[in-house]
Amino acid sequence: MRGTASVAAVATVACLLAGWASAAAAADAAAPPETIVLKAAHVFDSTGTTLKDGGIVVVRGDRIVSVGGTTPPGARILDLGDATLLPGFIDAHTHLTLEFGKDYYRFMYDRIMRFPAEQALYGAQYARRTLEAGFTTVRNLGAYDFVDIGLRNAINAGVTAGPRLLTAVHGIGSPGGHFDNLSYPPDRVKPWGPIEGICSGPEQCREAVRYQMKWGADVIKIAPSGGVLSESDPVDVPQLTPEELAAIVSEAHKWNRKVAAHCHGDAAARLAIAAGVDSIEHGSFLTEDTLKLMKSKDVYLVPTRMAVYWTDKNADTYPPNIAAKARAAAAAHGNMFKSAMRIGVPIAFGTDAGVFPHGMNAMEFGLMTDLGMSPAAALLAGTRDAAKLLGEAADVGTLEAGKTADIVAVPGNVLTDIHATEHPVFVMHLGHIVVQKAAT
Ligand SMILES: [Zn+2]
Repeated sequence: MRGTASVAAVATVACLLAGWASAAAAADAAAPPETIVLKAAHVFDSTGTTLKDGGIVVVRGDRIVSVGGTTPPGARILDLGDATLLPGFIDAHTHLTLEFGKDYYRFMYDRIMRFPAEQALYGAQYARRTLEAGFTTVRNLGAYDFVDIGLRNAINAGVTAGPRLLTAVHGIGSPGGHFDNLSYPPDRVKPWGPIEGICSGPEQCREAVRYQMKWGADVIKIAPSGGVLSESDPVDVPQLTPEELAAIVSEAHKWNRKVAAHCHGDAAARLAIAAGVDSIEHGSFLTEDTLKLMKSKDVYLVPTRMAVYWTDKNADTYPPNIAAKARAAAAAHGNMFKSAMRIGVPIAFGTDAGVFPHGMNAMEFGLMTDLGMSPAAALLAGTRDAAKLLGEAADVGTLEAGKTADIVAVPGNVLTDIHATEHPVFVMHLGHIVVQKAAT
């Protein structure tokens, strides 16, 4: 697999520059991979809601060999002490190639002025920060200038450190809608079309999907409803017609791509669900009837509590109409989330990282438990259930024999302190140790 000179050279560069590739990655491919035994006071394997005491996880190469049982002879033992071992966290909603700061207009200016290569360097930094925070798989829901595709490919090649990345290329939406949010006059900035994900009518929207898939989209992101961080559109109105939605979803599903629908408004969500989308992102103004429809059709809610919390807390730093939208969404979102839990809508962890600084993703766990979700349910949303939504459950999301060695350890008992997820002491990705703070 890693037998060629060029691949070995890439692994060495990653080791020197990124410092994350373990010695095992650069070792002679012919040598059998080392067996590593991870020990900790507790294990939450995400196959259920219980925490087991005194467990071990055995890893060889990039795979989990066994969970529990005895230590194989000759294995390297890493004793992480009073900590909880968990599957690597999964964030179903990030924007790894961008990050808003305190100045909204500065961000909009940088979006136009930064060269793609420059954006990529920022993206590499955000990806590393995300991985070091314990997020070993993330879904990237919208980027500009194909920077997300470049970042994903570079991570897969071992050139730079980052989580496993499923990415959407450009988000698809209507002219003037949430994704067409550069309100510069057309003689200053070229208007966007289907290549950039902006489309009118079913045929153009179908074309927009085909373009994103042509360039490597793993998932299709759409904006059927207005958004918070766009200046001109109302937050809760529908922005794609039923015909456009049907064209987008059918085209994406033909290629086995999931469709993630950014929706704050209820009417927009109804249209998106009728068209067959796989998840509703944000969901601020969803009514109980719509939530029941989601439950009956197995449509996931990706609540992005972090984005709601962050834009509300920092509302004063945005232009006035965006501040008003942020406050209105936050006022409605908490009750919607509680209704979704009561009704039993499937919930997958997602944050909208990039709206807030990358690396703070795990705060989402605490924001969900603050609204009455149990710590175990929050952890399942951020591991097993997010893996199901992403279509990656065969490979990640639980600690089980045969799955990818994506493993996190957090201090103490995670079920008694969910905020421990914000301070991982150990992160392993694909069998490589990325973070190791505990004594061994
Ligand atoms: Zn987003």
